[in-house]
Amino acid sequence: LLWVVAYDATTGKQVFCMFYVNKVTPSSTEFIFRTERKVPRLGVMLVGWGGNNGTTVTAAVLANKLGLTWKTKTGLKKANYYGSLLESSTVCLGSSPDGEVYAPFRDLLPMVHPNDIVFDGWDISSLDLGRAMERAQVLDWSLQEKLWPHMSQLKPRPSVYIPEFIAANQEHRADNLIRGSKAEQVAQIRRDICDFREKSGVDKVLVLWTANTERFCDVIPGVNDTAENLLNSIQMGREVSPSTMFAVASVLEGCAYINGSPQNTFVPGAVDLALQRGVFIGGDDFKSGQTKLKSVLVDFLVSTGIKPTSIVSYNHLGNNDGLNLSALQQFRSKEISKSNVVDDIVQSNPVLYRPREKPDHCVVIKYVPYVGDSKRAMDEYTSEIMMGGTNTMALHNTCEDSLLASPIILDLVILTELCQRITFCTQDDPVFQGFHSVLSLLSFLCKAPLVPQGAPVVNAFFRQRACIENVMRACLGLPPQNHMQLEHKMT
Ligand code: NAD
Repeated sequence: LLWVVAYDATTGKQVFCMFYVNKVTPSSTEFIFRTERKVPRLGVMLVGWGGNNGTTVTAAVLANKLGLTWKTKTGLKKANYYGSLLESSTVCLGSSPDGEVYAPFRDLLPMVHPNDIVFDGWDISSLDLGRAMERAQVLDWSLQEKLWPHMSQLKPRPSVYIPEFIAANQEHRADNLIRGSKAEQVAQIRRDICDFREKSGVDKVLVLWTANTERFCDVIPGVNDTAENLLNSIQMGREVSPSTMFAVASVLEGCAYINGSPQNTFVPGAVDLALQRGVFIGGDDFKSGQTKLKSVLVDFLVSTGIKPTSIVSYNHLGNNDGLNLSALQQFRSKEISKSNVVDDIVQSNPVLYRPREKPDHCVVIKYVPYVGDSKRAMDEYTSEIMMGGTNTMALHNTCEDSLLASPIILDLVILTELCQRITFCTQDDPVFQGFHSVLSLLSFLCKAPLVPQGAPVVNAFFRQRACIENVMRACLGLPPQNHMQLEHKMT
């Protein structure tokens, strides 16, 4: 029996059509997963290394590695990795007579430990990481003092600056630049990657964009629609954003590239290039605070049969990201990235929503310097409940932005590296293959997940988490987690 909900354009009424499908045949395919167990020494190059996220993630890894503790007015604090799915959350493996057995994600498969990651990167600002950490105003001062001797040794490499892509208010930072044509700049980024790989002795390099949000790039046939055209455009000096130039350089060096910001770095030509070279790309935009909560809350409401009709989100923040987003075009990139997060959840329930019907959804972002990195996110969710009733929820969420984004950066690079070691085959196609170059497994960590063309975009939080959990279980030879707990339901 198949239900289809249609929308009558003349009467405006919903029409439920019921079809009897002759036969639905369940099919099953056996997959064999293989995980290379040797964990490489991982190098991560951050674009925007001297920013709040770049300095915070580097400092956090150093503090954990050195086992640092520091005093604050509320007592002694110890370095940890709270907020990292892999390091600080667990998976239920099954149950034993003594109860359920949980294991940390990090222990399921051999994977890189964050303490062992070697960082490097680029920034248009020349400040060393010690001074950049001070500028960021994220970490307690007593911790910064302990980290200073290490952080001040680290200096970002010069980067590509094309003023029109980020807000004009960023210009004063731009004192550390790669000069030359676009082709020369891409060549320099490639040399930087090779130089880092050689000097640090790492086995593998991943590149992640955590620099300012750029404006969107127009997708223009002949300019950036195919790999060939994109490479030509770089040679000819046509419009290519700095983030796309980094993506191209990384892919050409065989390094996976992750985009932590909202802009459309992955124009069709960049995706095409990654596919041709068999290199992973992932993104877009870290899912850290307000959007993460939205993908939980709307999932909860719609899956309980309640109909969200209006979602209004205000943000104010006072860090440099907020300053950059106070410019219209850069705000627009963020607004687009935040806007589609409820789509798949709404579309999953034709009982509540007509085709193409969506809740009203509005996002406002304001720059308020005083709150610094401590972003405030205020949301109002209004839903229709039974018999014409209304349910309204108002939330106030104080998100220390970079402390939420840093563990996500670690999860992104560690998961990507792990995926590079996983291959699988089926009975019908016994040749082992890796995941598609567009690594949609990273969706859990991204506001606007990038997926292979034609694949469904999943924003719903629990489905995204289940995807990672069940892929890892498959690698271990365990069935997907189904939560039936039949063993406890028998008499
Ligand atoms: P930030 O402004 O503190 O850091 C960005 C850094 O990038 C700056 O140091 C800047 O000098 C540098 N930069 C700008 N253009 C560059 C270029 N072309 N090459 C190299 N460096 C360049 O911002 P942040 O708070 O660290 O956030 C970084 C990015 O992550 C932003 O785009 C933000 O929207 C995105 N993001 C952050 C969060 C979060 O912090 N919770 C969540 C989602 C997305």
